[in-house]
Amino acid sequence: MNIGLIGYPVHHSLSPEMQNSAFRELDLNYKYEKFNVEPGKLGDIICYFQANGFKGFNVTIPHKETVMPFLDEIDEEALAIGAVNTVDIKDGKLIGYNTDGKGFVNGLKQKLIKPISESHILILGAGGAARAIAHSLYLHQPMSIVIANRTTRRAEKIIQECLKGDGNALTLQEAEHMLSRFDIVVNTTPIGMHPNYNEIPLDLRRLNEGTVLSDIIYNPLKTKWLKLGEQKGAIIDNGLSMFVHQGALAFEIWTGRKPNVNLMKETVIKQLGGSYVNR
Ligand code: NAP
Repeated sequence: MNIGLIGYPVHHSLSPEMQNSAFRELDLNYKYEKFNVEPGKLGDIICYFQANGFKGFNVTIPHKETVMPFLDEIDEEALAIGAVNTVDIKDGKLIGYNTDGKGFVNGLKQKLIKPISESHILILGAGGAARAIAHSLYLHQPMSIVIANRTTRRAEKIIQECLKGDGNALTLQEAEHMLSRFDIVVNTTPIGMHPNYNEIPLDLRRLNEGTVLSDIIYNPLKTKWLKLGEQKGAIIDNGLSMFVHQGALAFEIWTGRKPNVNLMKETVIKQLGGSYVNR
């Protein structure tokens, strides 16, 4: 069976190797391949998938929202987030899901020393990834969620649309001053991503020891921000965990089987050059 990945551009994606290694390990006759799909060509590729018996596909930037009108059903979480990253084709029907937020939470949970329901959370950034992460964390009923963004209007929008108004929007400077109040701090901005290794999204002077610091960037695997946090006694969580867990959930949707998450992780690490410390 075939599984697609649509995005534009998509050549850099690490998903094909990651998914194919997990299919092979379980002896599943599935093949995952990427398709560079220009905006405006979504309808054509979906027809192609249906005509050629594809079992499903992943959706990445810039199609996560625009794919929604093409689908027959969309699950509750994807609707609340307002974006779809995984589509299952079942009896000819296209069913949309969003595994980004849940994948993030599944990875994060392995690092937590107290439950999300007892945590005060700060999210930096208010783009697509922040929407999914904020919504999934919100479902665990944390003590509070604050979203800090360069453009606070966008943070307010997520709070209204994904958190039923139950959160606060701040500027990045305000968040920096209040940093010691949070148990979990998540960077969803691209600040610090390859090749800008020296940039950090937020000063960590006020960070408390034992805070869980999560950066969803996975290239580099350990950003400067995470390294600084680790030096200050934070528990760190890198973007590899979200990437692998969102992929594992999609794998389960298509195959009904649980993949080997560690193998998926190792496959991604190898593609990124094979050097990583915090697995
Ligand atoms: P996006 O929709 O473009 O949002 C980016 C956010 O970062 C926006 O809120 C933007 O602020 C903020 N931002 C960007 N540059 C900034 C700067 N120089 N200073 C301050 N704020 C800045 O992107 P996205 O899809 O959410 O993805 C964000 C990051 O997450 C990317 O690095 C992506 O690779 C990573 N990601 C990782 C995974 C994973 O599985 N690990 C999954 C998805 C995404 P404004 O609103 O003010 O523009």
